[in-house]
Amino acid sequence: MVKSIMLILFLLSASIAVAQPTIVEEDPCGAYIPDFMNSLLKAGYGYSYADLQNDIDTWQKDEFVKIDSIGASVQNRTIYMLSITDSKTNEKEFRIWIHARTHPNEVQSTFVTNEIIEYLLSDDEYITTLREKCIINIVPMINPDGVELGYGRENANQVNIESNWSSASPEIEVQVLKRVLDSLMKTSTPIDIALNMHSASNCKRYFVYHAEAGTSAKYVDMQKKFINHVKSEWTNGIEDWNYFVSWTSTTPTQYPESWFWLNHAEKVLALTYEDMNCAEAKDFDMTAQVIVNGIGRYFELLPPYIISSNFEKTEIPYKITTNGSLLTINGNGKVVSTELYTTQGIRVDSKKGEYLEFTINRKGLYILNINVENSASQVKIIIR
Ligand SMILES: [Zn+2]
Repeated sequence: MVKSIMLILFLLSASIAVAQPTIVEEDPCGAYIPDFMNSLLKAGYGYSYADLQNDIDTWQKDEFVKIDSIGASVQNRTIYMLSITDSKTNEKEFRIWIHARTHPNEVQSTFVTNEIIEYLLSDDEYITTLREKCIINIVPMINPDGVELGYGRENANQVNIESNWSSASPEIEVQVLKRVLDSLMKTSTPIDIALNMHSASNCKRYFVYHAEAGTSAKYVDMQKKFINHVKSEWTNGIEDWNYFVSWTSTTPTQYPESWFWLNHAEKVLALTYEDMNCAEAKDFDMTAQVIVNGIGRYFELLPPYIISSNFEKTEIPYKITTNGSLLTINGNGKVVSTELYTTQGIRVDSKKGEYLEFTINRKGLYILNINVENSASQVKIIIR
């Protein structure tokens, strides 16, 4: 009896101590480590701090990359930031921020981010424009201690830094990010888009959308516009904007996106991206490409992506197959005329005949315009 009264008193005092409502948000990442990730533990879940340092050595040789140390972790590991831009052009219109690997076991966030870096350093025509007009700041590993200690979600002090942003004395990694973000927001090219890279065990690719209750009507339009642009490039690969809706009653204060919203509102489109944290996770290069192309369409550096076909699925008279770099179109006895384009609308090749073969050496998404018997259609082609 005394014990239960003590317990009630304890609970009462505890509830008085937390008079402020605590906003419990569903965790998009999932709070456990999938079994298959445990087998990768000793190697930094498949990408360790040493792997990052090797990549830093490679990236810093590129003419478009500048690498800064923006601070150090609890255990004094360097936190690196890449700035990717074409410094020969002075006028920059947009800034993109990306940080990854808050949660150590979400190595897929690193794989996607590294592919984004590869794409941003490529000689693609759109990327050349992007580098001229934008500055892209990337922190590839914000929690190196957690990665090296084999933690699932915490830093060296066993704190989940993803939800530490409203703390009165935040962890050093959060302090580092806040300091850098603050200074970037004060430049003549403040951040326009901020992506926080994670991966979820439900084996889907999606953005964590913030409802109007926690943001604004304008902000939800910005989110939909961006997510739709990314999804339009890969309809089956990226989930709809409303796949994971958060902030449905009010604005939480503890996340990086909270910091952006509370300090800069609609000036920054800040979103968490969740890749697949499952054994089937793949196509990190494709994912990177559709995200970066989506950014270009959002900024109107690329035209909107429209795809159409006037054939019903069951009536399609031709057969398209891909095998590595080889794309084959079989007209089944009918003459097919085709034009192949990049997703940026650049013509790669065109062919006409009953049986056509294209060899495509650059991986990625392509658009094939096909004409058969005066019926036109557009098909998305993925070369892996
Ligand atoms: Zn996460």
